[in-house]
This record gives sequence, structure tokens and C-alpha cells, in this order.
Amino acid sequence: MASKKSTSASKGKSLRCRFCAQKNTVREGARAKAVCGKCKLPLSDEPHKKFADLTKHEYVHPADSKALAALRAVPGVDTALRKLIQVTGESAIRVMFSASSVKVTPKQFPDLHAKLQVACTTLGVDMPDMFVQQNPIVNAFTMGVDKHIIVLHSGLLERLNDEETLAVIAHEVGHIHAEHVLYLTAARLFEALAKGTMMVVPGSEIIKFLISAGISGALLAWARRAELSCDRAALLVTQDPHVIGRTMMQLAGGTVASKIDYDQFLEQGREFKKDYDDKFLDKFWADIINAGQTHPFPIWRVSEILDWVDSGQYADLMEKK
Ligand SMILES: [Zn+2]
Ligand SMILES: [Zn+2]
Repeated sequence: MASKKSTSASKGKSLRCRFCAQKNTVREGARAKAVCGKCKLPLSDEPHKKFADLTKHEYVHPADSKALAALRAVPGVDTALRKLIQVTGESAIRVMFSASSVKVTPKQFPDLHAKLQVACTTLGVDMPDMFVQQNPIVNAFTMGVDKHIIVLHSGLLERLNDEETLAVIAHEVGHIHAEHVLYLTAARLFEALAKGTMMVVPGSEIIKFLISAGISGALLAWARRAELSCDRAALLVTQDPHVIGRTMMQLAGGTVASKIDYDQFLEQGREFKKDYDDKFLDKFWADIINAGQTHPFPIWRVSEILDWVDSGQYADLMEKK
């Protein structure tokens, strides 16, 4: 019996997943396409770096820190935003998602739970709650003040492969690591107010203060830039710029993404910023947001991530830490 057992074991090779450390047995000849049984990410012999003491200052985009510093320079803004979210939304947000979405646990969507764990251990973030919500719009977001939650739309999971899904989850964990969540939550509230989808009777005095201090415009302008920092966080987790690029292509191309040429898409990303300075982009985004469109957004994001890789900063960080 014993010899029979060892014979069957020798047919496969043991390979530890570089992302989640799960031990996998891979059949001879099936190596190239093998994925981890736990996190479903591709197996390989490449190392995967986990950052022990990464600080946000090491990767946040300068446009993000500049816009956020300007926002925080307004006296009382943090307290007012905190209060606003408490009175208007935080408990409602939690109730809404725990009642209408499926919570990700080691037993429910175990591979998504494993991917969340990979992103959190790589960046050094405590695990937040994560939910999957039935929604065809390809999207994900992070909210909350005292307790953070990540929400993934079902449309996103249907569209993206496992590596791209990791990139999106890592981007969301990046928002937590970069301490964006209070401001992002406030930005979403302001967006909801602007669209008239939310009534804010309890918070109206605070809203008046925030609007009079010019906060809502500053918040929305910052929120676009915050995305750039978190794309970098996503790259620090996937550790493959092309996974980020292909994720952006999926986001840009929607249902026709499979027909888009990836190299041409990258080329478009590189071209995008050449003629535009930040001032122009500000106006551009204002127009886009006003028109209710976000479509060209991924092109801008891919151009920024390529810039960061080309600058050598990404490679420095991977070597240093
Ligand atoms: Zn794994
Ligand atoms: Zn984001």
C-alpha cells in the first residue's frame, strides 16, 4: 500500500503559491496553465514580494497628495466630513450592503477571500469586510469611516479574469492603505447629493458648511487623482504592469474588450497625456463628470501607471523593500 501511495504522489510536483502560500500539487505537463487551488491565481516559480512596512508616501501620486493636502488645509474639514458621514450614511451603508449583498468569507467566494488576503498581506493592511453585489455595472468601491467595506459588483467579476480581479481588489485595499476612505466616502455622498439620489436632512448644517468652504468641488477633483495612487498600490500587489494595463483595457472597452489590441491600447495611453497639462485635464474631467461619462478615464489611468513604471520608481520600490 505504502509504495502505491508514493508512486501516485511522484506523478505531480508540489508547488507553493507565490501569492497565498498554499501548497499545490501540479501534474507533469500541466505546469504552464496551473492555477492555485485556493486563490485561483497562476502558479509560478517567480517570487512575490510582501511589503513589511510600506508607507503611503512611498507610492502615492503627487497629484493625490497635493490635492488632499489642499483639502485638509481647510480648518475643521476632517471633523465635519466624519460627522457628515455618521449622520447621513455610515450605518445605512453597512445595513444596505449586509442586507443586499453576499459577504465574502473563507467559505463564500473562497477564492475572492484568498485574493483579499493576498492584497492585505502584501500591502500590510487589516482585512476589511468585502461584499459581492448583484449589479451589471463594472465597478468596485470602498466606503466607511470606522469600519471599511469593499464592494465588488457582479458585473466586474463576470468580466475580469483572476489576476485582473486581484488588481481591482488590491486597488481597493490601496484606498485603505493610503487613508483615502473617509474622503472617498464623502465624495460619493456629494455625488449622490448632486444627482438628487440622497436626502440629507440630518446633515444639512454640515453640508452647508462644507459647500460654503468649497469642499465638495475640491473633494471631487481629488477623488480622480486618488485613483492614480491606488493603481500604483494595485501594481505593488500584482507585480506585473501588464495585469494593470489589461484590467484598464477591460474597464475601457466594456463588452468589446476582447476585440481590442492591447499594444494599441498602451500606445493610446502613452499618447494621451502628451498634449495636455494638468490644468487642461482639470477642465476635461469637470466636463466629463458633468456629462455623466467616465469612459476615457482608464486611458488616463493607464498612461499614468506606464509613466510610473518608466520613471523607475516602481522598480526602486520593489528592490528597496
Ligand atoms: Zn494561491
Ligand atoms: Zn478607486
